[in-house]
Amino acid sequence: MNYDCIIVGAGPAGIFTALEYLKRRPGKKILVLEKGKRIEERSCPMRKTGWCSNCDPCNITVGFSGAGAFSDGKLILSPEIGGKLDQYLPEEKHRELIRYVDDLYLSYGADTRLYGGELEKGVMSEIRQKAIRSNLTLVESPVRHMGTEGSYEIYTLIQKELFDRGADIRFNTEVTDLIVEGDAVAGVRADADYFGKSVVLAVGREGASWLNELCLRYGIETKIGGVDIGVRIEVRNEIMKEVNERVYESKLIYYTPTFDDRVRTFCQNPAGIVATEYYGDGLAVVNGHSYKAANLKTGNTNFAILVSNYFTHPFKEPIEYGKYIARLGNMLSGNKIIVQRYGDLRRGRRTTIERLKRNNLRPTLKDAVPGDLSLVLPYRIMLDIKEMIEALDNIFPGLASDETLLYGVEVKFYSNIISVNNRFETRYRGLYAGGDGAGITRGLVQSSINGVLIGRMLSGDEDH
Ligand SMILES: Cc1cc2nc3c(=O)[nH]c(=O)nc-3n(C[C@H](O)[C@H](O)[C@H](O)COP(=O)(O)OP(=O)(O)OC[C@H]3O[C@@H](n4cnc5c(N)ncnc54)[C@H](O)[C@@H]3O)c2cc1C
Repeated sequence: MNYDCIIVGAGPAGIFTALEYLKRRPGKKILVLEKGKRIEERSCPMRKTGWCSNCDPCNITVGFSGAGAFSDGKLILSPEIGGKLDQYLPEEKHRELIRYVDDLYLSYGADTRLYGGELEKGVMSEIRQKAIRSNLTLVESPVRHMGTEGSYEIYTLIQKELFDRGADIRFNTEVTDLIVEGDAVAGVRADADYFGKSVVLAVGREGASWLNELCLRYGIETKIGGVDIGVRIEVRNEIMKEVNERVYESKLIYYTPTFDDRVRTFCQNPAGIVATEYYGDGLAVVNGHSYKAANLKTGNTNFAILVSNYFTHPFKEPIEYGKYIARLGNMLSGNKIIVQRYGDLRRGRRTTIERLKRNNLRPTLKDAVPGDLSLVLPYRIMLDIKEMIEALDNIFPGLASDETLLYGVEVKFYSNIISVNNRFETRYRGLYAGGDGAGITRGLVQSSINGVLIGRMLSGDEDH
């Protein structure tokens, strides 16, 4: 079993590596090993029933196209958002690759409507003015929305194209170890030993802990990443109407008055749904998405408020810290997500089933458990979130109302950053790492670009 290249993980980073390499070097022998299922076999029962069936592995994050398959499919076309690729390539090159990847998604059928682009300059400037008055910073980031079902269809076409181009893709195959000879990689261990001239580790957040262990075992340097902890907010569409319709998503950053912590809004889903995301160890964290089809739209908008946490010596385990807090929420809710009305939180009382029933705003996450997030989140994070909600209320009046729902815990585990050079190659010759799992990216566009770049490096067409 000798390959030109073995790719571990079929998320956007892995599949765009394979696609670019095969486009440039047709006939190369590429093996993709993916621990989850083919895209057409992936389905989340909860999306039909409203209840999580604890699939193992979770179909939302694992399988062909990784966390991208059921994502909200927002292509955020800004070098400032979605990762750290700016540290590996010049800005002009980065912008050119954003256009390249955007064109690829368009060629597979992504919506041609672009939110927050030139046409919406007027609305953006109004929001910016309000933001400035409230000490918030608005980050400009044009968005193309594929929608959850749109992403699924697009990645289905990409899966077909990879097969057509001759890629050997094996599903339900988890890689457990590397095969290394001296200072070069020789292959990987899974259900069998597979040998290849190069190996690309593109394991996403799902595989980040495993990748860290691997780095320790093989003496590959890593830098500690941060962890963003917060809640998902749900309001009526009316509160976010203008942004929803014209800009789709407002990326706002705030330095809180009390702790001077960096807090940001993230992943806005107009007319969307709040969802649970399960990690390999059964940890339940909250997320959100929205469908494009009119009949699947809801009356609510959700987005996350996240507090960035970075730690200093001697603490080295931000992922564990984030999981610890999320686990506390799971512990109080029978491994579910806690939901609380903002009015209850402000008055220092829990939300009960009875209080939630009286709420005019209905939660879209049906199995969320009414409770008290102040029993879960550290005081500092809780206060940061409250101060952010009050600041955002100046831009979106009504956001800080009693009926607004807070779901917790939302955690973004930014994997430790794997030490790679500008070619994304580790200290082992032929061993590459990219995407979210390597701590380099945090979103669809940057992970896809990262894949394109690795594909070009492998083909020898690019070397910067
Ligand atoms: C619910 C949700 C919504 C999102 N919405 C958006 C959005 O709207 N816009 C946006 O830009 N980003 C979004 N994201 C983030 C985006 O999906 C990720 O940034 C992107 O998928 C990362 O790509 P990746 O290839 O690095 O990793 P992943 O997509 O995580 O893929 C990694 C793959 O590796 C596999 N794997 C892991 N370990 C192993 C192993 N040992 N052996 C074999 N296979 C392995 C996994 O099964 C997985 O399929 C969302 C994420 C989620 C979870």
